[in-house]
Amino acid sequence: MLTRDIKYLKGVGEARAKLLASELDIHTLADLLHYFPTRHVDRSRFYRIRDFSGTEMPYIQLRGQFINFSKEGEGRKQRLTATFTDGERLCQVTWFAKIQTIAAMYRPGVEYVLFGKPAYKYNAWQFVHPEVEAFDPARPPQGLRGIYGLTETLRKRGVTSRLIQSLVGNLLASIPKGAIAESLPAEILTERRLMPLDEALRNMHFPESVQALQRASERLKFEELFYLELHILEYARRRNTQLHGHILARVGPLFNKFYSEVVPFPLTGAQKRVLRELRADMRTGRQMNRLLQGDVGSGKTLVAFMTMLLAVDNGLQAALMAPTEILATQHAESLAKWAEPLGIRVELLTGSTRTARRRDIAEGLLDGSIHILVGTHALIEDSVQFRNLGVAVIDEQHRFGVAQRAKLWSKAEVAPHVLVMTATPIPRTLAMTVYGDLDVSVIDELPPGRKPIQTWLRFDDNRNEVYRHLNNELRQGRQAYIVYPLIQESEKSDMKSAEEGFERIKGLFPGVEVALVHGKMKPAAKDLQMQRFASGEARILVATTVIEVGVNVPNASVMIIENAERFGLSQLHQLRGRVGRGADLSYCILMSKHQLGADTRKRLGIMTETTDGFLISEADMKLRGPGDMEGTQQSGIAFNLKLANLARDGQIISVARADAIRILDGKLLLMPASIDVINRELRTRFAKEIDWGRIS
Ligand code: ADP
Ligand code: MG
Repeated sequence: MLTRDIKYLKGVGEARAKLLASELDIHTLADLLHYFPTRHVDRSRFYRIRDFSGTEMPYIQLRGQFINFSKEGEGRKQRLTATFTDGERLCQVTWFAKIQTIAAMYRPGVEYVLFGKPAYKYNAWQFVHPEVEAFDPARPPQGLRGIYGLTETLRKRGVTSRLIQSLVGNLLASIPKGAIAESLPAEILTERRLMPLDEALRNMHFPESVQALQRASERLKFEELFYLELHILEYARRRNTQLHGHILARVGPLFNKFYSEVVPFPLTGAQKRVLRELRADMRTGRQMNRLLQGDVGSGKTLVAFMTMLLAVDNGLQAALMAPTEILATQHAESLAKWAEPLGIRVELLTGSTRTARRRDIAEGLLDGSIHILVGTHALIEDSVQFRNLGVAVIDEQHRFGVAQRAKLWSKAEVAPHVLVMTATPIPRTLAMTVYGDLDVSVIDELPPGRKPIQTWLRFDDNRNEVYRHLNNELRQGRQAYIVYPLIQESEKSDMKSAEEGFERIKGLFPGVEVALVHGKMKPAAKDLQMQRFASGEARILVATTVIEVGVNVPNASVMIIENAERFGLSQLHQLRGRVGRGADLSYCILMSKHQLGADTRKRLGIMTETTDGFLISEADMKLRGPGDMEGTQQSGIAFNLKLANLARDGQIISVARADAIRILDGKLLLMPASIDVINRELRTRFAKEIDWGRIS
């Protein structure tokens, strides 16, 4: 019955149905029931102005009269202001649109009710575009009222929040209580004490109380996350049972020799733990697909190398793919250094590798004399053929998509084990969901002895002090980065700010070599400049954010970030990770303009307070929402979450995930009716069903 077209609902009709479909994606009665208010207004009491506190109030209702109206400003800037009183104190009301209509509609001396969110500004409490209705003494006080999100088009065509509410009201009134079919398995509903769907939907639109609304929303969030987890987990399991991998049973002489004789420092506890996790994966005969998260500087490269040694010890080859030429080169250098005492051959293949060399490498890959190949995208070209690729490591995941990973697999009869490494720390519950097709390991410990990077927030009028400090560091032989924001809409101005900065720095530090890298440069030119800096020839690198990913210049001790307010927290953290790689104290200086909004101040404040990537990323997600997080767009999984928030609802995610796992493991036995419910929901949400035959 709920699958019926919305146009048959009383008060809708053809025209409105079209509008609701195009603007809000509401096609059926069920869609309407799932179009939830974005917030609720407390209509259980009238507030008094004298009770207002702070500088901003929640949505409230106020009863009283308009005293006077006046039009101010000209043309497009015109506005209507009114003074309103609750009989005791005054407040201001302002409208910027529909001025004529409003001025004609409300009169002084009549009792009205205002709904809105007052803010204290210009020495008075202000309402902007509140909802206004005549006070009706006969009407009993109401509880919470839903406010629905609308588009501009809908507003212009006369669709209001009230209208939607009355449509939902009509619909709900026509359905007998309890008649809306449940969408969660009864077993879970009972065990988790969740509100039934029928009750939850009614309470989302017309809450009986704040508590009931809370429980309704929790239940609906749980439902979204439960099906999302079920979908992801089922997908991951299918992959695991289908793809076979090399069995790397042996921890051989290379691994052991490296561990006991070559590696110059003890591994951290986290590195050891992760290596155990990787080895456990690769012993089983299924193909490993693992994400390795570790903060900048946590020592992922070493873990990658030792994983590759396991492949070589078992008679297989390994590859390491990096997103840029300079990174690939750096990796090849450090790997070659470690590999040399072991007597294994490491080669580098990038876009600029000469033809003769390429031929040589191609041969070595086929006859197996090359054990480890490091490179860029060049590795996934068709011409690159391995004899037997056993392990593929991909550094800095966000530059490679799922499709590119798959291309690496297709190179071998048996898919190689894949290890994807990223320095973007994502809280674990989220990572498990976002990278649902990957298992997750975390290096959550930095090597001992690192000095925390000093982070300062400085403003334009502190420039002299900042440059004096920079000069000090340069005089001690150190190097420095100066980073400008990359402005995507207009790469021109990105280039301009970096170029101006470059000229200014050259003027300020005569005799100091300065390199410049910006978004408009050709990759080869970029690499050349990076190389100048990496080799120490250039002492300062002025750049837009192209250096974000992984370069290692241990001698650099200063990171100055211009217009720091324009960067996301995770980005700032990545940038800061470029310094502090040597033994010396390092500095990160966030430059900003003076007038910062409260949010920005908070964001930059977090940077000065902590260097813990996980804390930072959690804070970032809370401020921005996970949709913006690097990497999340690439998971290829449609989330379609209406209520649940991956950043804030970690608790619900854990429970929903645990229940999904119990069901897939056959640990929670379901009645046939519940299985039908799950299949129906998975079909509508993800166009699939679970093969229950495989669940024992
Ligand atoms: P990232 O995880 O950012 O890729 P790297 O692998 O580049 O970090 O490691 C950063 C630095 O720390 C390197 O110079 C590396 O040799 C060093 N390192 C790695 N593991 C350890 C360890 N267990 N103890 C001391 N230094 C280590
Ligand atoms: Mg790295």
